Amino acid sequence: MKLGTKIIHSGHTIDPYTKGLSVPIYQVSTFAQESVDHFGKYDYARSGNPTREALEETIAALENGSRGFAFASGMAAISSALLLFSAGDHLIVCEDVYGGTFRVLTSLFSRLGIEATFVDTTDLSNVRAALRPNTKALYLETPSNPLLKITDLHGAVQLAKEHGLLTLVDNTFMTPYLQRPLELGCDIVLHSGTKFLNGHSDVISGLAVVRDQELGNRLSFVQNAFGAVLGPQDSWLVLRGVKTLKVRMEESQRSAIAVAGWLAEQQRVREVFYPGLPDHPGAEVHARQSSGPGAVLSFKLESLELTRRVLEGLELAAFAVSLGGVESIISYPAKMSHAAMPPHEREARGVTDNLVRLSVGLEEAADLIADLDRVING
Ligand SMILES: *Cc1c(COP(=O)(O)O)cnc(C)c1O
Repeated sequence: MKLGTKIIHSGHTIDPYTKGLSVPIYQVSTFAQESVDHFGKYDYARSGNPTREALEETIAALENGSRGFAFASGMAAISSALLLFSAGDHLIVCEDVYGGTFRVLTSLFSRLGIEATFVDTTDLSNVRAALRPNTKALYLETPSNPLLKITDLHGAVQLAKEHGLLTLVDNTFMTPYLQRPLELGCDIVLHSGTKFLNGHSDVISGLAVVRDQELGNRLSFVQNAFGAVLGPQDSWLVLRGVKTLKVRMEESQRSAIAVAGWLAEQQRVREVFYPGLPDHPGAEVHARQSSGPGAVLSFKLESLELTRRVLEGLELAAFAVSLGGVESIISYPAKMSHAAMPPHEREARGVTDNLVRLSVGLEEAADLIADLDRVING
């Protein structure tokens, strides 16, 4: 079955109890038990809720994993996965990692004795150089945020396996529709479900998927013990959003390709970062490990004044934090997603003050380009 079909038919098309064509919102916290000796499948909803379970099984099927987990936010999913590690463990992390992940690693997990080294993983020799005897995992984003840098997942997995490391991949930008890291040998896939998976800018959520059963048991333990679970109503909304994932990704991506091509030709645009452009340094690797460049791009403008005009002046792109909605969203990494990163760290990673990130929504590409043209060249 192709993924487009799997999205619609991955096990929860029909509610097993009522035959409804949508799994209902089981707004339930606890379930009556019949016997002291044998509890039913559901006992308390932190441990399991049928609506959340439908979402967890759906994301597991789409990522081709054995088990999925839904969390209260992308950061809750990421932090819960990081709780698999212990004091004394060391992680190697891609350097332009999501700002919130950088923050939780450097100001919270560091206090618990879990150390992270940030390296440019587009060159795997940097990963090799950062290895220590206590290194336990490789944490990657490809394309990365906000510079859309590409890491070779196949090469990374080989290196990780040589050294007994787990590979974690934040797949938020691609979604399983375009890239499935577990199929390439990665161990844990993470998502901010807030973005493309839900897709409608109305839910905060996070997901994790694993293939290995034992790892699944360990993450299941963390999910239940730490307790940062997604509620049934939000689980239902994400399930509903996922049903249109294919058409939204296809349409947004088609427009993003047109917008990136147009931006690359503008004199006042210094640089465009998008793996769909042929001169992107990671284009070839990206094409090997995914089926499309996605709908997020970033670009640098000739001046700070123009940067401000683009951020504040577009009619069709909301100036906001986030991405992956039906509406285009323009954001300012320096003051938004990467505000948690000290300025020198941020600049060193290329997240400069003239960089903006555009998440292309479902508007017509011609209208988006006309809007950009008015603000950039007007
Ligand atoms: C938004 C985002 C997160 C965090 O997700 P929340 O749902 O906001 O907690 C993590 N990684 C990436 C790549 C993101 O874009």
